[in-house]
Amino acid sequence: MGSEEKGKCPKCRIEYDRRIYSSCPLCEMRRKLLDKTKESMQQLQRNQDRTVSYLRKGDEIELGELNGNAIAWIVLDTMRDKALLLAKYGLSYMSYNNRMWSVSWEKSSLRKYLNDEIIYYFFSEKEQSRIIEISVENKENFR
Ligand SMILES: [Zn+2]
Repeated sequence: MGSEEKGKCPKCRIEYDRRIYSSCPLCEMRRKLLDKTKESMQQLQRNQDRTVSYLRKGDEIELGELNGNAIAWIVLDTMRDKALLLAKYGLSYMSYNNRMWSVSWEKSSLRKYLNDEIIYYFFSEKEQSRIIEISVENKENFR
């Protein structure tokens, strides 16, 4: 690369090929990500203005965020002011348990991950407060 073909971003200090990029590709990526985030935040705000009681089975809403994109949910069921949601697209993948032995759902590492980690990762504090905790009775299922 000749010196006139080499660009150097004063902001992030990376060097890039001017024959390929007209401006710093990293700054461009940051700008796009920021735009996306702003867009999904506005989308979320619009959805928050809509209370759950208006939701109907089969509706689609957006709640939470993954890699700067709003997460789409399908309303499986509603009950008074509550709604049961299923993510429209797979959000992550993980084994049922992190150790290869029989374990009940209650003691599985997947359940722990879903309850203790993912909620902070996908949802803002305000969104977390809208998620209710329920008890699900499960039989020991490993025999
Ligand atoms: Zn840059």
